[in-house]
Amino acid sequence: AFEVLVIGGGPAGSAAAIYAARKGISTGIAAERFGGQVGDTMSIENLISVPYTEGPKLVAAMEQHVNEYDVDIMNMQRAEKLIPAAQAGGLHEVQLANGASLKARTVVLSTGARWRQLGVPGEDEYRNKGVAYCPHCDGPLFKGKRVAVIGGGNSGVEAAIDLAGLVGHVTLVEFGAEMRADEVLQKKLRSLKNVDIITSGQTTEITGENGRVNGLTYTDRNTGESHHVALEGVFVQIGLVPNTEWLKGDIELSQHGEIVINDRNETSIPGVFAAGDATTVPYKQIVISMGEGSKAALSAFDFLIRNSAE
Ligand code: FAD
Repeated sequence: AFEVLVIGGGPAGSAAAIYAARKGISTGIAAERFGGQVGDTMSIENLISVPYTEGPKLVAAMEQHVNEYDVDIMNMQRAEKLIPAAQAGGLHEVQLANGASLKARTVVLSTGARWRQLGVPGEDEYRNKGVAYCPHCDGPLFKGKRVAVIGGGNSGVEAAIDLAGLVGHVTLVEFGAEMRADEVLQKKLRSLKNVDIITSGQTTEITGENGRVNGLTYTDRNTGESHHVALEGVFVQIGLVPNTEWLKGDIELSQHGEIVINDRNETSIPGVFAAGDATTVPYKQIVISMGEGSKAALSAFDFLIRNSAE
């Protein structure tokens, strides 16, 4: 059995594994795909002290750093079920899709999240070529340009306000008859001069030429008419989905499916900790996930020294 078993090999899981291993305790990390969302990222410019890197390069560096320590890396392993210890301080069990099962005195859950996609033509084709999901990450790439934000919930409206200060012009497209964001955010958005708001707009296609986005097409759901807006970028903000479906019923999740944690990364199960995009931590970023993974491992270590078997 492991003393610390980390599920998920993104920035949060890598940091947790390194912090745990540096305490000299037996550490394992099982990940469906080592690297996580970082593997899908082009340029990264906000990892403090690294002014510029690229996703695959950062994934290789994370893996190399984990490999500096005695960590059992189980890549391409999907966890399917968590069976909490029968009594406090006992062994938790994690069942894998391949039929194997792993046991550990503490578990760090760091299975991350995925952006909900629109599912329209052009979205996949122009991903990272004008189609973006993270305004904190990619906003500065569109300085002075025209962008759309799809989605009028809190994240969409916050993104539109944020981007309006960076880019030339923002068009917000909301599917419903009204935006769903908090009124104070909507009021702020309406006060901005370089923002257009389209409601009852169903985005039907992201268009492009020469390999880059050049606009989007939407249908006005009131009239049925189709319109095209010329622009250089589209930020899809229709939700971030945590990879926690497999935990439903076994651990406390928020209404959005995030693992509920406190400021020590403790979950509703003693000895099970969680970190990163899969949790209720506000703001989902690489540097934040790394910090959270470190905290979760330190909390796991603290749990182990307080609940030693002897
Ligand atoms: P993830 O990176 O999502 O990693 C989750 C890990 O868990 C993966 O290894 C996955 O395979 C594994 N996993 C999932 N389910 C299971 C399971 N059931 N069993 C086993 N393993 C499982 N952030 C920035 O700070 N700067 C940027 O420039 C930036 N750009 C981005 C660009 C894109 C296109 C995207 C998608 C995200 C970007 N982000 C950026 C956000 C950043 O990538 C995330 O905040 C960060 O990766 C979250 O780390 P994490 O470890 O919590 O989760």
